[in-house]
Formats: sequence, structure tokens, C-alpha cells
Amino acid sequence: MATTRSAYSRRYSRMFRFSIRSSQTLALSRGLLLLLALTGAGGTVFGQAEHANPWAPTDPGPLPPIQSLSDGIWLKGDLHLHSRHSHDSSNNSEAKIIDFSKSVGMDFICITDHDNHVQGDVAHNTWIDPEFKSDSVLLLYGAEWTTTRGHGNIFSARPYDHQRLYDVRDQRDIVIGAVKKELGVHLSANHPSGKDHFGFSYDMVDSIEVWNSAVWPKNANAIMIWDDMLSSGRKLTGRGGSDSHHGTPDSPELATKNSYQREANYVGTPTTWVFAKARTLQAVVDALTNGRVAVSANPYGPRVEFYADLDGDGRMDMMMGDNAKPTGKPVTFRVQLAGKTIPGGDYTVSVVKNGDPFKTLKAEGATPAVEFTDTPASIGRTYYRVEVTGPQTAYPEVPKSMALSGNMIGLSNPIYFNFDPNF
Ligand SMILES: [Zn+2]
Ligand SMILES: [Zn+2]
Repeated sequence: MATTRSAYSRRYSRMFRFSIRSSQTLALSRGLLLLLALTGAGGTVFGQAEHANPWAPTDPGPLPPIQSLSDGIWLKGDLHLHSRHSHDSSNNSEAKIIDFSKSVGMDFICITDHDNHVQGDVAHNTWIDPEFKSDSVLLLYGAEWTTTRGHGNIFSARPYDHQRLYDVRDQRDIVIGAVKKELGVHLSANHPSGKDHFGFSYDMVDSIEVWNSAVWPKNANAIMIWDDMLSSGRKLTGRGGSDSHHGTPDSPELATKNSYQREANYVGTPTTWVFAKARTLQAVVDALTNGRVAVSANPYGPRVEFYADLDGDGRMDMMMGDNAKPTGKPVTFRVQLAGKTIPGGDYTVSVVKNGDPFKTLKAEGATPAVEFTDTPASIGRTYYRVEVTGPQTAYPEVPKSMALSGNMIGLSNPIYFNFDPNF
């Protein structure tokens, strides 16, 4: 014992001598002294306790049951539209938007005028407008929350005090999130990577606009942000929105420099589909929040449906938006295109798993469909989503939109495994 101690002190005094000659060694010896001091206190090193990650993937516990795949109705709509109450729109009265929506078979729309153009008073502008009514199209209450840090859309089944959200637009996210929660509205991040990108926390949004306007290629970064949020455990619905501002002039002299846009980007480019429990405003918002949602290039294009057979009985028992516990056994997934496809058209289904390309499959025939199999991890999260490319279904009412969307036909929301509902 004595020998050890004296050997130690000899080594130490040698080190001390060296340290006088070299400042580098001096720093090293100081470090050693600090280390000796720190390790004395309960095994911590540099303030770091013995490592046990409390956030490591665990079993999220019982998940809510999967809802019926048949008890519901597919409804289509446009969730981002500007009427004359937005000062950057032209020739676009609410009646014009609603009549057009009806004529192309829209089930729901949300007129989302810029709230800053009316200092937050959406109620006395967009909503009080006598034209804000329809006998067939469900009209959601909403607005485009237009702030310094970016834009988001509000969707609500009933009128809400939008002014309050406008008032807190420059506050910290924690203040904004609390107001949003109190109002009980759905908040959606708009055009998250373009101009006026969404510069707020994604922890307070329920969905993200992954397809803004007919111009599909400009959405690549929005898709990247979506995958980042999904991969980090956020169960975030992807949706579309035309963000159209300009209608057909009633007479030639009313045309503006932007009137040409009416032929390229208008109601339905793209179209968002929701599988709602009923044809009601609340059911549309709920479906949007839950993620039983697909986006198509236009209202006539095929809808991407994405299902999974979890228990292996040959019948599909989950769809996009649903979240289940993996069984440890392979799951069969099915992608099908419902509605008007191009006869003989070649459709390509690209499967994304946890943010990475997973499979590319060809879908052909009168009702194109493909199946694939994979085993989601037993521990930790897994998600799958699909994008479909192929020949564009014509949209004669907005004839120039097809070229802008290219071969992008539609996309699904993810099917989720082990996502924590309390995240
Ligand atoms: Zn915007
Ligand atoms: Zn907008």
C-alpha cells in the first residue's frame, strides 16, 4: 500500500515537473486533477451521470384500435384557396370559387384568406360574406395565418376566434401553441420550404402541406421535411392545397397580369382526399388530423389507396393514417388506384420506408394495384408511404395544370407502426 502510494506520488511529481516545461502538459494535468475531483462525486464524469437513455425506443403501450375500413366515405377537396378578401387575389369572389368547386365535384373546401390583410378579422370578411354558403360543398372555417415567420392554415368545423391567433403570431411557440390548443383548431404548416416557409415548431401542427399548387417539382423539400418529422416520431398528416388566388375575369378589361394562372392552378390542383366517417365538417377535420388522407394531382385523377393486412388473414385491416403494433410477422401491403385511370397506363409506385426509398413497383390494368411484404421492426417506429407516378388524367377545367404536375399522380399518407400516440 505504502509502495503504491509512493510510486504514485513519484509519477505525479514527475508529471508536475514536465508540466512546468510544457503548457500542453499543464493543461493535461489540470484535466487529470479535475477528472479525479469529478469522479469522486457519485460516479459522474464532467457532470454526466451514468448513461441510461430515458428516450430509447420502448413499447408505446396499448394503441387505440384501428377504425373500420368500410364505415366511411371518401371526400375530396381543396384546403388552400384565396378569395377577394386576400388583397393579392384577383377576380376571385367566394361565389366563383364555390360554384366552380361544385361543378368539379368537390365535397369540401377551405377558403384560407390571408389574415394579415384584414388584421386578423377573418370573421367580418371571409366568413360574413353573403357568398360564404353552399348547398353541396362543405365549407370549412379557416384562414391563412400569415406571419413574419411563415404561413400556416387553420381548419375548423365551426367558427373560432381567429383574431386571438393573429394577435400572438410573433410570440414564442409555447404561447402560440397554447392559444391554438384553447381554440381547438387544426393547424397546418403551409408551403414549408418555399417562400414564407413555416418557421415555427412542428410540435404544434397537425398537418403539413406536402403538395402546394399544380407545380409538383417545387415540393421536393416539403417532402423532405415531412419525412424528417415522420422519422422523428411525429405522426403528421401530409395534405395538398392549390393556393390559387386568381379567377376568370368577368370581362376582358378586368384581366390582371396574374389572370393567366387560372388556367394552370385553380381549385383542385392538387386535390386532397379524406376518408371521413360522415359527410360533415367535423368528420373532414378529424380525418385530416388522423391521416386517412391521400393527395391527387386533380379531382379527376385516381386516388391512391394504401392498405395493410396485419394479421395475415388475406384481408386488409389497416389503411394510411392508421398506427398498429407490429406482430413480428410479415405484413402484406396493398396500393391501389381508385377512380379514373388511363386505360393501359403504366403507373409506378414508389414505396418510402422510414424516409428512405424502399421499393419501386409497376401497377397496370383496369384497376392498377400492387402488393408488397415487409416485417416492421418489433421495437421502435416504422412507417411506410407511397408516391405514384404515371400518365396524367385530364382536367379540362384547368387545362394547363397537367403539364405543371408532370407525371406525379398522387401520394398516400403513411401506415404507422409503434408510433407513440402520446408523443
Ligand atoms: Zn402562403
Ligand atoms: Zn396561400
